[in-house]
Amino acid sequence: MAEPAELPSRLAILPFRNKVLLPGAIIRIRCTSPSSVKLVEQELWQKEEKGLIGVLPVRDTEAAAVGSMIAPGMGNDSGEQSLKGTADVGEFQNQDAKNQQELMHWHHRGVAARALHLSRGVEKPSGRVTYIVVLEGWCRFSVQELSARGTYYVARISRLDLTKSELEQAEQDPDLILLSRQFKATAMELIAVLEQKQKTVGRTKVLLETVPVHRLADIFVASFEISFEEQLLMLDSVDLKVRLSKATELVERHLQSIRVAEKITQKVEGQLSKSQKEFLLRLQMRAIKEELGDNDDDEDDLAALERRMQGAGMPPNIWKHAQRELRRLKKMQPQQPGYGSSRGYLEILVDLPWQKVSEEPELDLKAAKESLDRDHYGLVKVKQRIIEYLAVQKLKPDVQGPVLCFVGPPGVGKTSLASSIAAALNRKFVRISLGGVKDEADIRGHRMTYIGSMPGRLIDGLKRVAVSNPVMLLDEIDKTGSDVRGDPASALLEVLDPEQNKTFNDHYLNVPFDLSKVIFVATANRIEPIPPPLLDRMEVIELPGYTPDEKLNIAMKHLIPRILDQHGLSSELLQIPEDMVKIIIQRYTREAGVRNLERNLAALARDAAVKVAEQDSTMQLSKDVQTMTTSVLDTRLADGADIETEVIPISINRQRVSNSFTSASVMLVDEAMLEKVLGPPRFDDSETAERVATPGVSVGLVWTSFGGEVQFVEATAMMGKGDLHLTGQLGDVIKESAQISLTWVRARAADLKLSATGEINLLKNQDIHIHFPAGAVPKDGPSAGVTIVTSLVSLFSQRKVRVDTAMTGEMTLRGLVLPVGGIKDKVLAAHRYGIKRVILPERNLKDLTEVPSAILDGMEILLVKHIEDVLEQAFEGGFPWKQHSKL
Ligand code: ADP
Repeated sequence: MAEPAELPSRLAILPFRNKVLLPGAIIRIRCTSPSSVKLVEQELWQKEEKGLIGVLPVRDTEAAAVGSMIAPGMGNDSGEQSLKGTADVGEFQNQDAKNQQELMHWHHRGVAARALHLSRGVEKPSGRVTYIVVLEGWCRFSVQELSARGTYYVARISRLDLTKSELEQAEQDPDLILLSRQFKATAMELIAVLEQKQKTVGRTKVLLETVPVHRLADIFVASFEISFEEQLLMLDSVDLKVRLSKATELVERHLQSIRVAEKITQKVEGQLSKSQKEFLLRLQMRAIKEELGDNDDDEDDLAALERRMQGAGMPPNIWKHAQRELRRLKKMQPQQPGYGSSRGYLEILVDLPWQKVSEEPELDLKAAKESLDRDHYGLVKVKQRIIEYLAVQKLKPDVQGPVLCFVGPPGVGKTSLASSIAAALNRKFVRISLGGVKDEADIRGHRMTYIGSMPGRLIDGLKRVAVSNPVMLLDEIDKTGSDVRGDPASALLEVLDPEQNKTFNDHYLNVPFDLSKVIFVATANRIEPIPPPLLDRMEVIELPGYTPDEKLNIAMKHLIPRILDQHGLSSELLQIPEDMVKIIIQRYTREAGVRNLERNLAALARDAAVKVAEQDSTMQLSKDVQTMTTSVLDTRLADGADIETEVIPISINRQRVSNSFTSASVMLVDEAMLEKVLGPPRFDDSETAERVATPGVSVGLVWTSFGGEVQFVEATAMMGKGDLHLTGQLGDVIKESAQISLTWVRARAADLKLSATGEINLLKNQDIHIHFPAGAVPKDGPSAGVTIVTSLVSLFSQRKVRVDTAMTGEMTLRGLVLPVGGIKDKVLAAHRYGIKRVILPERNLKDLTEVPSAILDGMEILLVKHIEDVLEQAFEGGFPWKQHSKL
């Protein structure tokens, strides 16, 4: 350690609050106050040769923080203004301070220090500069006079510590030698004790041998935690003998305290449980973080949370509840179990729209109607009903009307109608999917006691949409089921009940939430599975499947423009002619709605987008070629240079450009492109003919959640013991239907002339197998009765069923045909398959009014009462029937 040559007579003074720097000790100070920053900048940072500064202990007064010790405006950078100062009073009064009498208790002795290291930082928010200074104490001085230089102080000083030569002389004193030995012995003892605890004291031992003893005394004492007063005493011990005996005393005391502490630790250690240890460690960690200045993450977080809580607009009782929870959270450690869930809970409380609503301008019914018409083709009755609903909303906004429930197969526009309602009311739209929800907790949330508990889907939806008055779509309300985990339907009942939903209780929230401002709209594929009490709360609006004509219109007017737009195309770039759309409808999709149609059209648009993008780049390229050539030619000609060039005729070039432009401008979809993009057609009208080509196959019409469908029934016979085999994922009801059908056919075998002999047993030595193809689709319901009978009769009589005829109807054991549901969808399905004749139970006549007349016009509807009528119609030329004699 190189000693500075000489102590200057003036030093800039850095106040050291309630602490003392002793010679030989090293401290790290963070300078943040304007005056200390200025001092560091001027005295240390800007000087090439890092000088000395004086570190003077200051006793903290209540009013005086270090940075405000000199009132702003005092003195100036050039002139120094003298303050009252004497060497032995050590107390200066700031007389210029206007409002407050700031007393600063300066100590009259300090230590000159050298800067070992300086670093500069910028505090983020304000751009304020701070410095971190590492200082090493060097030599004691006493203050003769203190004066202000700019915003900091300088002092006239005189040296207190002995110079090297003076020291050499003093060290000869036998008393001092004795004291030195005593000190060193005590210090050695301390080192020995410390050595047992940690390995790093080896360096201290070296110090003991190399550093002069008077400096050692300071260094040792500086490393203990002693009071400010004792530190000051040490600083004041200018006399070497006094200093050594004081230091020996302090080292001795430190030694004692370590020994006592060790004894206590040994005793206590055994008793500390793991959690206590963790607690202590955490406390230490917090202390360390505080020391490092990054402790405030959690606190800041919680403060921010509290601020957000205040702005969340919670009702008073919920506000109280949230505050209780926050207090609990504040007492917890972030690592503690329960902290995360408690915090997550508060976050959800904060995020919920307790008061927030979307502004609703006056409802304009005309505009709403126009927007509904703009977005949806046809659906006249449905749109009318929606307008009525909106009108009621307009007249009585506070009254919750019935909940609209759109029922129909997928892709018929249920969701998009619901979102149109939201748009017309200028409210936000949120969709809650209820498909497959079997657990009540999905609706109502899990109680907080569960690990990973969370709110139910409704509260979650409201959190997402962030307003308390959205239009909420309860999608697929028919797909909820109940099992051991409770009944979601009963929770939904509460949600849809205007009396109860003001105080909807989500188990997770555990406080009531007002759902009365929400407008609920539901969708379902079928009505039957919806529990009656729930259905009672809703007004069902049925959306049947579309006819091919309607689909064509929807595609041309709505789907194609939208898809082109979504793919960055326009009708100038891609045209899908009506004929092609018809082909897609007939051969590529067989559905009640328009979802697959939309998908197929999107596939065409994607393909076109790629081509257009590719052509775009070639076009770009050819244009570039042209301009480049011309400009090169121009310059060459202008230069008059005699260079051989290949001249590209401009006319040809232009032709090329315009060609590529025309082909990029319109791309016409044709059958070849359909085949290329969509693959070979998936359906054709000859399917029925092919499948009914052998006896034993009949064509039925069934109802599934995808709308009406054509269902083939295949029967075959083989050697066996007279058993009936059924395959094709069948429910109990359909199995019974098959039994009934077989029984009926067996009973009437003779009348049907199914064998030449009068006395016949159809099952003699043979088994019957009935299969319902499309084995992956579960099937149930009684409406296949007539179809099974027809296929059995066809099998036994070896006559083929008519390919153009499909049927539906339940049959009793005595052969009566009973009405069935879903007539409209079934007729539409038959139409899709190109079937021209449909056999229906007579009592379903009334349902035919729902079928669009355009469909009925091209079809023959055959109404039947008895199964014999069915057979009569199902076979070419009727069925030979032996009339019963009526007894
Ligand atoms: P769902 O909810 O009934 O399954 P969506 O509402 O999702 O059906 O409709 C599927 C697609 O068909 C949507 O893009 C929708 O806009 C369109 N669509 C359905 N019906 C019509 C219609 N009548 N007019 C215009 N587009 C329709």
